[in-house]
Amino acid sequence: MMEVKTSLLDNMIGVGDMVLLEPLSEDSFLDNLKNRFDHNEIYTYIGSVVISMNPYRSLPIYTPEKVEEYRNRNFYELSPHIYALADEAYRSLRDQDKDQCILITGESGAGKTEASKLVMSYVAAVCGRGQEVNKVKEQLLQSNPVLEAFGNAKTVRNDNSSRFLLLLLLFFSPFLIDLLEKSRVVKQPRGERNFHIFYQLLSGASDDTLKKLKLHRDVSKYNYLSLDSAAVNGLDDAANFRTVRNAMEILGFMADEVQSVLELVAAVLKLGNIEFKPESRCNGSDESRIKDKNDLKEMCELLGIEQSVLERAFSYRTVEAKLEKVSTTLNVAQAYYARDALAKNLYSRLFSWLVTRINESIKAQTKTRHKVMGVLDIYGFEIFEVRKTADQTSVLFFLIRTRTESPPKISGIEWTNIEYFNNAIICDLIENNQNGIMAMLDEECLRPGTVTDETFLDKLNTVCAEHQHFESRLSKNSKFLTDHSLPHNCFRIQHYAGKVLYRVEGFMDKNNDLLYRDLSQAMYKANHSLIKQLFPEGNPAKVNLKRPPTAGFQFKASVGTLMRNLQTKNPNYIRCIKPNDKKASHIFTESLVRHQVHYLGLMENVRVRRAGYAFRQPYEPCLERYKMLCKRTWPHWRGPAREGVEVLMADLQVPGEEFSYGRSKIFIRNPRTLFFLEERRRQC
Ligand code: ADP
Ligand code: MG
Repeated sequence: MMEVKTSLLDNMIGVGDMVLLEPLSEDSFLDNLKNRFDHNEIYTYIGSVVISMNPYRSLPIYTPEKVEEYRNRNFYELSPHIYALADEAYRSLRDQDKDQCILITGESGAGKTEASKLVMSYVAAVCGRGQEVNKVKEQLLQSNPVLEAFGNAKTVRNDNSSRFLLLLLLFFSPFLIDLLEKSRVVKQPRGERNFHIFYQLLSGASDDTLKKLKLHRDVSKYNYLSLDSAAVNGLDDAANFRTVRNAMEILGFMADEVQSVLELVAAVLKLGNIEFKPESRCNGSDESRIKDKNDLKEMCELLGIEQSVLERAFSYRTVEAKLEKVSTTLNVAQAYYARDALAKNLYSRLFSWLVTRINESIKAQTKTRHKVMGVLDIYGFEIFEVRKTADQTSVLFFLIRTRTESPPKISGIEWTNIEYFNNAIICDLIENNQNGIMAMLDEECLRPGTVTDETFLDKLNTVCAEHQHFESRLSKNSKFLTDHSLPHNCFRIQHYAGKVLYRVEGFMDKNNDLLYRDLSQAMYKANHSLIKQLFPEGNPAKVNLKRPPTAGFQFKASVGTLMRNLQTKNPNYIRCIKPNDKKASHIFTESLVRHQVHYLGLMENVRVRRAGYAFRQPYEPCLERYKMLCKRTWPHWRGPAREGVEVLMADLQVPGEEFSYGRSKIFIRNPRTLFFLEERRRQC
């Protein structure tokens, strides 16, 4: 086997590239991470993959001088840095015309969003300086505060957690895809907040603006805003509101567009305050009535909707079948359901509109040829608690699908097939159209009112157990684990990196944002151009008999588009790790990091890279190690080390395409060359 002494290699804290770690074990891997982290080295490579440890404090490593240092340098030449990856991706884009995507994974709070911003700002700093480029750069950087205000929230794990999938295709063809965590609009877990914009608006808007929007400054007046964590330390909502408005202006939003956006945000808050009470009917059933119509009235005024239209839409549900229309009254539970579905739809469609609008304004700046760099930041992958929700199932599924790097084929190396590369079974379990988990969830959601999270779980257990009986592909491999030791409400899936417990609580809610047609038609009738635009299906001329897609379905569809998009691009990977659960600097909690190393599949990653990726060595130690193989360099070489290595390689007749000479190191393309050198050495 290839024998590499780490001490001969890079002159740095620990080992800069895990591929060169010797001996390789999970413990040595963790020791190396810790050692580097303790010395402020937060970046470590696995070949071309960058591991990033969240330092939870600002380090002086993102200065313009650093940008210059990493600019146009070979990836392995300097100590590991996210800039090296950004530079590499940027240069392949520029010089080889290969579209790039940067995939950033890690759990919530691990630093994914920061990493994506660092990549973007690096590329912005080094890419051309023409007027057009500057304009695009400015716009891209300004899109951040806007997207964060509408798409981020305080969660238990991260005060500024992105709750959407962000794909920023940078450099002349920017394009964003969004998948927002909609359920947050109407309900937030304890200790978490709704999206920042709500709080920003209430604390940052002028009295005059608030008056126009019919809002109070007091957060406690709104049902949709969680009280227990309204103020977040270190987050200045009022100042951020000014930043957002300013950014929207730079992005070219017209004053009336900004006003429309704020009206929608206000309307969502009003909507949350509409409450319902039961009214008994003579036939013994309960019908829903609106308790106090003031919020309804104000919401209608804001959106230019006739009050009676919306009121009716909250009381009846019309089902249209071929030629006839059937109206049924809503009970209180159904009315609340309808209200929340409307709020989720209003907000998420507003978000999508913002994303499209920002894209357009950036595209409008570009006339030149389109090259693409994507930065993909995946939200909310929280691994420690039994708190998986439908949104996160999809994220997990997404992560599974993205991990398909296959090992390079090298003759002479035994390749043990790690299960990591074979996720078809799990994908099938989650994704399969007939009895996959998502499909079953969709099916259950067809019958709102009659099903609960528990009935869904029962069904899941029955179906998967039946399949076990028939030895189907699903459970033959026991990926879906039913056992009686599981806590109430949970099911478990065996993922490549371990078993994950999912709690079904809220699954139905999250998946379900079925909007009754009466409501979309009421929205379409609004005398408000933005609202009208957001609910095209409310146009009576376009009645669609099909059921609107569920969140799970939409997610699957968007992920599908995303995957097809990413497959055409050259991938670059950043793996983010959270060193502790306290958001504290200088603390390295080993068990926590170990868990993430498992989850992110980093050990497998090292093994793959070891089997065949670029290898490099500074000239000195390289010469020291191999000078015995050549008469001209043995026992002493008197010139510069680089020339010694050149002589050595020529003498050994190593083909020129197998290596290249860097400023301070030799770069070897294929481990085969190393094996050759090592073998010769052994024979000496
Ligand atoms: P994620 O997107 O993975 O949920 P974030 O990127 O929002 O996590 O990071 C959470 C917090 O951690 C940030 O708000 C910031 O305070 C800190 N952080 C992350 N990366 C860095 C970094 N490279 N330098 C300094 N602080 C960081
Ligand atoms: Mg984030």
